[in-house]
Amino acid sequence: MALCFGGAVLHGADVQAQSYGLPSLGDGQSLTTAQERKLGDRIIRELYRDPDYLDDAVLTEYVQDILASLMKAAQQRGELTEEQAERFAWRILLGRDKQVNAFALPGAYFGVYLGLISVTGTRDELASVLAHELSHVTQRHIARLIAQQDRLTPLMIGSMLLGALAASRSPDAGAAMMVGGQALVQQTQLNFSRDMEREADRIGFGLMQPAGYAQQGFVGMFDRLQQANRINDKGDWPYLRSHPLTTQRIADMRSRLGKEAGSAEPPATLEHLMMVARARVLMQTNMQVLRQYADDPQDAGFAAKSRDQKVGGLYAAALSELKLQHPDRARASIAALKELTRNDAAALRKAQLLSAEVELAAGDASAALVQLDKDTQKITADAGRPELMARAQTLLPLQRASEITGALQTRVAAHPDDAGAWMMLARVWRQQNQPLRAVRAEAEAQMAQHDYAAAVDRFKAGQDLARKGGGDFYDASIIDTRLREAESALREQASDRTLN
Ligand SMILES: [Zn+2]
Repeated sequence: MALCFGGAVLHGADVQAQSYGLPSLGDGQSLTTAQERKLGDRIIRELYRDPDYLDDAVLTEYVQDILASLMKAAQQRGELTEEQAERFAWRILLGRDKQVNAFALPGAYFGVYLGLISVTGTRDELASVLAHELSHVTQRHIARLIAQQDRLTPLMIGSMLLGALAASRSPDAGAAMMVGGQALVQQTQLNFSRDMEREADRIGFGLMQPAGYAQQGFVGMFDRLQQANRINDKGDWPYLRSHPLTTQRIADMRSRLGKEAGSAEPPATLEHLMMVARARVLMQTNMQVLRQYADDPQDAGFAAKSRDQKVGGLYAAALSELKLQHPDRARASIAALKELTRNDAAALRKAQLLSAEVELAAGDASAALVQLDKDTQKITADAGRPELMARAQTLLPLQRASEITGALQTRVAAHPDDAGAWMMLARVWRQQNQPLRAVRAEAEAQMAQHDYAAAVDRFKAGQDLARKGGGDFYDASIIDTRLREAESALREQASDRTLN
């Protein structure tokens, strides 16, 4: 599925209109890793602007950590080259969409919809989807697929992928595709071949155990897809359209699992059940459903439920109460949640983060800080990003932003592509009367999202500010340098030389 977009198509005529008369990549030329990354940057610049893009620190960390362990396993097995590891982004972008879909984009950006997270039973099942997608990247399927489109330039392919993504989310997508199929227009499809799908299954399966996941997760996910496949209406499962469950895929999987085939899938962790609950609530736009989640713990049958069901139910109830602005009821659910998770460090951490979120939403920053303090010492450049972001949000209203400046600077130094951390740093600088540094951080956030035009705009605003005497010489010279770099990136992007 990877380029996913199950069966999404773009009409030849539309492609022509967007061609800008550029040379194509045909004639057996293949995409270099640098070109593929730049194509990916261009695509995600648009995705970051999508209102459904979700910058949720808690869920992003959870999915990103799974991807990191799969990457490590792929490197150890020699399937992921050092060049790919360094050049590509390896970044998860969450979409608020309810549809069950996940996809790999050029340059190792991975789109994961909350709908997909919400149907997984275990972390292993979620890992199996990511292992499959990651393998499309390491096996250079994307590069090969793009090279096959010999009539198209990479820019056109970028437009196609974006168009296909938008189409897969539109309620009319199915109908539009049928009409397109019947019309006499030339169509281009960017779907992986069946051989590529089988290869992604095989390589992905091989990553599970070394990365620390149960191989049965692959089968569990297949079973889920198979069940959904029996239902006629597949509109909510684009993943199935792009990843048809052929008997061959299923047979391959069963033989791979070998003698473990009969053994049951290990149970879900409490942490996973909480993350599923979070995905379910965050993708929900229907207030009626949120009220049902919120009322669940008051239900007569709730006490008789298993511990696992209660943990998921209480998490969903507390987050729903937060959204419905009932902090007291949210607090009651969290108290019960903490009691049930007190012997499970990972789950308890998620309960504490949720607790801080509830207190912040209720306007009680001091109470939020109490929840976060226990984990503060674990914040490093690479770990504890949810705590870092929540702590910054908490210290801002308390007029104590200076306490988090150093940690945020460490974070962006190690992860200059962390736009959310740059934006937080901008607010933190502003509170400390450092407008020039704030403007620079805003510009860096745009650079991180590859919106070079917006970045140039902010850097120029910084130059104006410096001329009027804001900030010191050192800050001003950084802005001058970065402005030149942003302008150069913008020119390169506008000329499309990045890919040809
Ligand atoms: Zn696939």
